[in-house]
Amino acid sequence: TNPIFTGMPTTIFEAMSALARETGAINLGQGFPDVDGPEEIRRKAAEVAVDGPNQYPSMMGIPELRQAVAAANRRFYGLDVDWQREVLVTSGATEALADAIFGLVAPGDEVIVIEPYYDSYVPIIRQAGGTPVFVRITPPEWALDADRLAAAFGPKTKAIILNDPMNPAGKVFSEAELGLIAELCLKHDAYVIADEVYEHLTFDGLKHQTLMSFPGMRERVVRIGSAGKTFSLTGWKIGYITAAPNLLGPIAKAHQFITFTTPPNLQAAVALGLGMDDAYFTDLAASQAAKRDRLSAGLADAGFVVMPCQGTYFVTTDTGPLGIDDDAEACRRLTREAGVAAVPVSAFYAGDAPTRFIRFCFCKRDEVLDAAVERLGRWL
Ligand code: PMP
Ligand code: GLN
Repeated sequence: TNPIFTGMPTTIFEAMSALARETGAINLGQGFPDVDGPEEIRRKAAEVAVDGPNQYPSMMGIPELRQAVAAANRRFYGLDVDWQREVLVTSGATEALADAIFGLVAPGDEVIVIEPYYDSYVPIIRQAGGTPVFVRITPPEWALDADRLAAAFGPKTKAIILNDPMNPAGKVFSEAELGLIAELCLKHDAYVIADEVYEHLTFDGLKHQTLMSFPGMRERVVRIGSAGKTFSLTGWKIGYITAAPNLLGPIAKAHQFITFTTPPNLQAAVALGLGMDDAYFTDLAASQAAKRDRLSAGLADAGFVVMPCQGTYFVTTDTGPLGIDDDAEACRRLTREAGVAAVPVSAFYAGDAPTRFIRFCFCKRDEVLDAAVERLGRWL
C-alpha cells in the first residue's frame, strides 16, 4: 500500500464528529453551520434536479457558474477574469487544492506551507512528489516572521499555499504580510495556491484582500473559493478556481481525472448565489462575527484564554482551565465528560506541535452556543 496514506489517522474532523455523535455531545469541532444557506439557492438546486439537465456538464463547469465566478472576482476584488479560459468548477475546495497541487507540483519541487495548516495540503503535496517546507506562526498574534518566510524560499520553491482567512488561527493576513509573500514569489519565480474559502467571513471591518490583485501577481496566483462556506452549504462540495490560462491548463488536466465534473443542479444553484446582492455577503459576515463574540465571551467566562479571531468559523483557546497539557486528550475529555466536542490544534501541525490549544467552531445557532458554554461551565 501507499506509505503516504498507510497508517495515517482518519482526519480529525471526521474523528471528532464521530465521537460527538457517539456521545451525544454538542459538536463545536468540525466546521459546518447548523442552519442551511439561503432557501432560494436550495430551491434552485431542487428545480434543476427535477427539470434537468442532469447529465455530465462540461468538465470546466457550467457557463452560468463560470460567468458568476468571473463576475464575483470583479465585484469583490476588481479583477478582470475571462470566464472561458480562467475559471474551473470543482467538487469542493478540497478537490481544487488537489487539482492545483497535482497540476503544478513536480517531483523534487518544494511547496511552502504555513503551519498550522489545513490537513489536506501535505499528503497531496507528498503524493505529487513534492516536499513541504513549513513556516510556523504562533499564537496569539500568529504574525508571519519575514526572515523565517524568506529563509523558506529557495531555488526549488515551486509554490506557497496561503490560507487566508486562516483555519484554525482565525487570522486575516495583513497587507504588509501579503506584500512580503508577493515580493518573495516574484523574486523566486514561485506560484501561490491561495485557499480563500473563508473570503466572505472576515470581521470587524476587515476586508479580504486576494494576492491575485497585488502588482505582478495576477499570473502567479491560483485563487480557490468554496460555496460551502460562502453559502452555508458545506455538504454540497462546490469549489471554484480562478487562475491565468497557463496555470489553469495543467490544473484542469488533473481535474479531468480526479472528478471530471460536478453536479449540474448544484452548480446552477451556486451561480444564483454568487449573484446575490451585497447585503447577503455583509449580513453573513456580521452574523458570524456576532457568534464569534457570543462564544468567545462564554469561553472566557468559563476560564479559557480566548485568542483573537479576525475571520473564519473558528476561535482557538488555551487548554488552561482543563489542567491538561495534551490538547487531543483535552478534546476527548471535553467531548465525553462535558458533552462539547472541539478540535485539538496540534492536528494542524506536521510534528512537534504545541499541545495547549483547542479550536471551537462558532457557526451554530445562538441557543446551541449558549448550551455548550453552559455545559462547559458546569463541568469545569
Ligand atoms: N480549505 C480550508 C482552509 C478549509 O477549512 C476547508 C474546509 N472546509 C476546505 C479547504 C475544504 O473546503 P470544501 O468543503 O469546499 O472542500
Ligand atoms: N474545514 C472543516 C474544518 O476545518 C472540515 C472539513 C472536513 O471535515 N474535511 O473543520
